[in-house]
Parts: sequence; structure tokens; C-alpha cells
Amino acid sequence: MPDCCLQATAISKKFGGLVALDSVDLEVYSREVLGLIGPNGSGKTTFFNVLTGIQAATAGKIEFEGRDITNLSPQRVYRNGIARTFQRARLCLELSVFDNIAIGDHLRLNQGLWHNLFNRPAFRREFSQCHARVVRLIDQFAPHMRDQLDKPVAGLPMIDRRRIEICRALLGDPRLLLLDEPFAGITEEETRQLTDVIIEIRNQKDNLSVIIVEHEMGVISRITDRCVALNFGRKICAGSYQEVSRNAEVQKAYLGGEL
Ligand code: ADP
Ligand code: MG
Repeated sequence: MPDCCLQATAISKKFGGLVALDSVDLEVYSREVLGLIGPNGSGKTTFFNVLTGIQAATAGKIEFEGRDITNLSPQRVYRNGIARTFQRARLCLELSVFDNIAIGDHLRLNQGLWHNLFNRPAFRREFSQCHARVVRLIDQFAPHMRDQLDKPVAGLPMIDRRRIEICRALLGDPRLLLLDEPFAGITEEETRQLTDVIIEIRNQKDNLSVIIVEHEMGVISRITDRCVALNFGRKICAGSYQEVSRNAEVQKAYLGGEL
């Protein structure tokens, strides 16, 4: 049995009378790319929200690398090594590419304004380290943007915004990366390019696991090691993409849909 980095046990989330997650068990093995699939409204984003402390679980337990992280604050979850991107891109359009990536560090660094005012050398050192890390990420995963670090994000195509979001998530060196529909709103050609970026991340980061929520089944079949399917907040199937896509319940859930 491979090492488990994440173990979610019997996770439930209710919004009033609506059961968005119904006792979901889910594990992620070290270094795997896990596809989380299911029709709209099946609870995929809610699962990410509960995992990252944005929403509290109604019941259940989440362990990451052996530590109980159930219902920790988003900041503490991030410091424990889990980073994410959002279904709807969350970038500050008027800020530069650099600033949008560097924002990722604010969650990690403890130094507030007070510290920065009275400890300029430390601040400068920290800033230059941050700058170097941003440049390294850009060189690795978006080299064509190397001379666009000062450009505002507003003028950039969707795929570059997605790259920026992914670089921001990677800035804190997470060991688990959650990608929520990274291919939404981009063209087929861009989908191919972004798939290559994800494959590249995987090749270069040897202690990273990934959960990817995606509707684009071509992508899921290409980059995932395993898949978990949700329907109405329940886990209905887990296995290889081939196994999951052939599963009768999954096919029924997707009837008329993508599979
Ligand atoms: P998915 O990401 O799989 O499309 P979601 O996790 O966004 O699904 O939603 C799962 C269910 O929970 C849906 O029925 C949705 O309407 C509901 N839901 C999600 N967030 C909230 C919320 N903040 N308040 C009330 N209901 C919510
Ligand atoms: Mg969603």
C-alpha cells in the first residue's frame, strides 16, 4: 500500500437541510494526481472548502501527513502544506503578475507592518527571497511571462491567469495542491498547454500530490493516477480513470453529460 498523505474520514457538510457532503471517505497517496469528478452540485468545491478550512465540516476527520487538520483556519491549513486554486479565478486584476503571485506569501509570513517598519533589513531580505522564488516559479512554469512580471494581470489571456494562480499556490511549497476546474473558460489549445504545465509541475516537484476537479475527461484520463466520483455529496466510486468511467452509477450520474 503506498503512503497516504491525506486521509479524510466520514466528512459531512450540511447547509441547513441540504447535505452537500455525505460521509465522504477520501485518501490521497503521496505523489499521486487524484481526479475528483462528479456532476455540478455534487460537492467537489465544498470538499475543497472543508479541506482548506474555508468551511467547517459538520462531521468527520481530516488528517494530513498524520496530523489532524480538521477545521483549522485556512491560514493554518496552508502552513501545514495544502494550497489551492479557485473555480473562479481570484486575481487582483489591477495588480501586477509579480504581486498576484507574491500575495501567496502573506499567508505564510508572520511579519506584520510593525515588524517591517522597524526591521528594514529583515524585510528587504525577506522580500528579495520572495522575489527570487517568484522568478524561479515563473521560469519553471511560465517562462514566456518572465518579462511581464510588472504588467497588470487585467490584460492577460485566461491561460496566463491560470498559470499565475498555480504559481501563487506553489509559492509556499505545498505538499498537496488542490486545483478546482483549472480548465474552465479556456480554449482547447490552451487546455493542452495547461495540461503540460500540470504534468511539468508533477515531474519537477517530487513531494507533491495533487487533487484536480475537472469536467474535461480527456484531461482527467491523461493526467490522473486515480479518480474519485461524487454524486449528491456521496462518494460513488474510486479507482483508475478506466474503472471509474465504466462504473454504472457514474455513467448514470453523467447521463447525457460528458462521459
Ligand atoms: P460542485 O463543486 O461539485 O459543483 P458544490 O460543492 O459547489 O458542488 O455544491 C454542492 C452543493 O452544496 C450544491 O447543492 C450547492 O448548491 C450547495 N452549496 C454549496 N455552497 C453552499 C453554501 N455556501 N450555502 C448553501 N449551499 C451551498
Ligand atoms: Mg465546483
